[in-house]
Amino acid sequence: MKKINDLTGEKTIAISGHIRPDGDCVCSVMALYRYLKKEVPAARIDVYLEEPPAVFQVLDDVKDIKSEFNTDITYDVFFALDCNEERLGDAQPIFARARRRINIDHHISNTGCGNEWVVEPEKSSTAELLYELMDHSLVDEEIAKAIYLGIAHDTGVFRFSNTSPRTMEIASELLKFGFDFSSLIEKTYYEKTYLQSQIMGRAILGSVRFMDNRCIVSMVSRRMMEFYCVGPKDLDGIVNQLQGIKGVDCSIFMYEIGTLEYKVSLRSNGTVDVSKVAVKFGGGGHVRAAGCTMNGTYHDNINNLSQEIEAQLKQASLQEGK
Ligand code: 5GP
Ligand code: MN
Repeated sequence: MKKINDLTGEKTIAISGHIRPDGDCVCSVMALYRYLKKEVPAARIDVYLEEPPAVFQVLDDVKDIKSEFNTDITYDVFFALDCNEERLGDAQPIFARARRRINIDHHISNTGCGNEWVVEPEKSSTAELLYELMDHSLVDEEIAKAIYLGIAHDTGVFRFSNTSPRTMEIASELLKFGFDFSSLIEKTYYEKTYLQSQIMGRAILGSVRFMDNRCIVSMVSRRMMEFYCVGPKDLDGIVNQLQGIKGVDCSIFMYEIGTLEYKVSLRSNGTVDVSKVAVKFGGGGHVRAAGCTMNGTYHDNINNLSQEIEAQLKQASLQEGK
């Protein structure tokens, strides 16, 4: 697929992204939704996604998202964005039934799924990739806003190394629509509630460094989340804060999602390929940002993760020494 342009005649189209949707996922889904409404106006277009973080209500169409997945419809086309089939969660059976199953993603760990796919790990974000697949004459202010925000979230506001010259060119084209980018980024990326800031402080206070201070780990338990009246969506940004500490090559953040079950976020400055670490434990992601879900005690999980990380750090030291 070179462009999203062969949908004429399709009557029912669904779009979805991954469980626990992040900024790139929500914004990509919203951008494609708006775009397809213009490209194939006669089609029924449905969006299936877990309820996104409240901050994404800055996008008008978020209200159209269906977070109930009990449907018997067999769609003509299903777009799975920013993930592989397994991470679609409850939308997976709907995807599996669809006639055309199209996968658009930028995760290096995704080998592609469905019967048509575009997976380009060199793209900063799924939003950037989608923009390249769109007919730009159909892009309006609302689509531009969504693409811009998706890119901003996955690049840490144009800061991470996945930001390319082309990323900035696209951002510049999008800014010409005149939306208030500064307020959108402030409200969806930087602004934290008091309780979100408190739990971040608590997580940093409880962090532990190991492997000559090159790695750092922290955890938030369900009890802590209850105490601060927060949920998983309120923990965004903690792992990036850990990774920003001077001297840290690799950071691990975990939060409890069930009994002996943790959602793990990994970050790296590039010395360690955390995508490889996450894949070992059934997850995936990028070289510098990845995640997985692990069963077992907190300490067992740290041991298992740190073995993989240590092996890579040793390898890197050996290569440096050569
Ligand atoms: P985060 O730590 O922010 O949840 O995720 C970092 C990156 O890894 C994101 O690109 C995200 O999509 C990916 N990722 C996080 N958790 C998982 C997982 O369980 N499986 C896969 N395949 N990717 C994940
Ligand atoms: Mn994502």
